[in-house]
Amino acid sequence: MFTFLMPTKVIAGENAVRNNSADLILGKRAMIVTGRSSAKKSGALDDVIAVLKDKNIPYTIYDDVENNPTIENCAAGGAAARKFSADFLIGIGGGSPLDAAKAIAVYAANEPIEGSNFELFDIYNVDRYPRKPLPMAAVPTTAGTGSEVTPYSILTLHKLKTKKSFGTPDVFYKTAFIDGRYTLDLPLQVARNTAVDAMCHLIEGFTNKKSSPASDFIALEGLRIIAKNIDSLIDGRRTVESCTELLWASSLGGMVISQTGTTIVHSMGYQLTYYKDIPHGRANGLLLPEYLKRANSVLPEKINAVLKALEMDSIDELCKILAGILPYTESISEAEIADWAETSIRAKNVSTCPFSVTLEDEIDIYRSALL
Ligand code: NAP
Ligand code: ZN
Repeated sequence: MFTFLMPTKVIAGENAVRNNSADLILGKRAMIVTGRSSAKKSGALDDVIAVLKDKNIPYTIYDDVENNPTIENCAAGGAAARKFSADFLIGIGGGSPLDAAKAIAVYAANEPIEGSNFELFDIYNVDRYPRKPLPMAAVPTTAGTGSEVTPYSILTLHKLKTKKSFGTPDVFYKTAFIDGRYTLDLPLQVARNTAVDAMCHLIEGFTNKKSSPASDFIALEGLRIIAKNIDSLIDGRRTVESCTELLWASSLGGMVISQTGTTIVHSMGYQLTYYKDIPHGRANGLLLPEYLKRANSVLPEKINAVLKALEMDSIDELCKILAGILPYTESISEAEIADWAETSIRAKNVSTCPFSVTLEDEIDIYRSALL
C-alpha cells in the first residue's frame, strides 16, 4: 500500500506567470517573499509585479530572506505580513526564499508561539498554530530544491547548530510557475550545485525505504531529464530549453521527496552547510558517492536503474562527473567530523536510509568523502 499526495498546481512554460494571473492571485493583498537580488536579476519579480499591478492588487515586498534562513528571519517576515494585512504570499527565488515563505505563511496567520524545546518560535510543532498558513504561489529561480512542490521548509537552527525541516501538508504551495527563463542567468556554479541537489532528491527518494511505484516512476524520469541536459552543466552552454528541462527535473525531485523524504546525504550535508558554509546542493554532492557505494551493496538493481537513467556505466563514472563540477577545496579535520556525526546521526531520515547507519558509519562516510 502507498499514498501519493501532490496538491500543488504546476504551470510550466515560458511566460507562465503573465499568462496565468488567476493562479498567481490567491487573495486581496499580497506579500512577495524573496532574497536580496535573485528575484530582480531573474526577471521573475517584474513579471509578478506586472500581474499584481494589472489586477490592482496591493502588495509589499519582504526581500530580507537570507541564504539558509533562520527561524528569526521568518518570524520577521511574518510580522511584516501581519503589519501589511497580507492575505496571500508569493515566494520568488531559490530554496531559501521558497522555504522561508512557508514559515512566514504560518507566522503571518498566527503570532509566533514561544517556549519550544528547540527554539524561540515553535515552528516544529506547527500543529499548535490554530490558524491555517496563508495560501502561497511559488516562482522558483533555481533548479534544485523542488521546494515549490514539497511540504517541507528547512530552517537554520542555531540552538542545535544544524538545519532542521518542519513540514505539514498545509504549506504546500497552491500554485508553482516553472519558467526556465528565470534560471538562464544563474551563475554556472549555482546552476551546478542546485542541479546536483535535484539529482540527490531523485536518487535518495528512489532508494528510500519509503519509495513506492509512483515515486520511483517519477524519480527515473527526473534522472533521464538530468542526463539529457548534463552537458549544459559541464560546459556551461545553457539555453532556455535546457533550463526549463532542469527546472522540471527539479520539480520532479520535489514531488519524489514529498512522498519519501531524503536520506543521510541530506542530514549529513546540513553540517557542511552550517559549519563550512558549503551550499546545500554541493554539500549533498560531496557525500553522494559514498552513499551510492553503500546503497549499491543492498540495492544493486536500483543503483543499476539509476545509472541506466543517467546513461552512465558505473558509479565511478558518475563520481568523476560530480568531482568535475563540484571541485573540493575545503580542509576538514577529524575532530569536526566526529562532532558533525554526533548531530547528524540523530536526524529522522537516518531510519529511511536503505542500509543501516551507525555513528561509526557516518564518521566513515564523512572521512571517505572529505579527508
Ligand atoms: P538559495 O540559498 O535559495 O540561493 C543561492 C544563491 O543563488 C543566492 O545567493 C541567491 O540570491 C542566488 N540566486 C537564486 N536564483 C538566482 C538567479 N536566477 N540568478 C542569480 N542568482 C540567483 O539556493 P538553493 O540551493 O535554491 O536553496 C537552498 C535552500 O533550500 C537550503 O536552505 C536548503 O536546505 C533548502 N532546501 C529545501 C528543500 C525543500 O524540500 N523545501 C529541499 C532541498 C533544499 P538571493 O539571495 O538574491 O536570493
Ligand atoms: Zn536538497
